[in-house]
Amino acid sequence: MTARPGPLYPWHIPDMATYDCRRCGEPWPCEDARLDLIELWAPAELDLRMTAEMRLAAPVLPDVPLEPRFLGWIRQLREG
Ligand SMILES: [Zn+2]
Repeated sequence: MTARPGPLYPWHIPDMATYDCRRCGEPWPCEDARLDLIELWAPAELDLRMTAEMRLAAPVLPDVPLEPRFLGWIRQLREG
């Protein structure tokens, strides 16, 4: 068998056990996930969505600063 399987997950979504991206393995939200999210959600909805994700991630990533990772990039995109 030399054929390699395609990506198991076509979308950049988090693995709930690690909060790494299922597609690319980067810490979620990875760059592609951010682009998808910005496109998919209106600004107020995106804030709510990412706050909810941050709460889900909190017990999984107790030592990671979550606010910059889950919410900081939204502000940066809007200010940039
Ligand atoms: Zn990804």
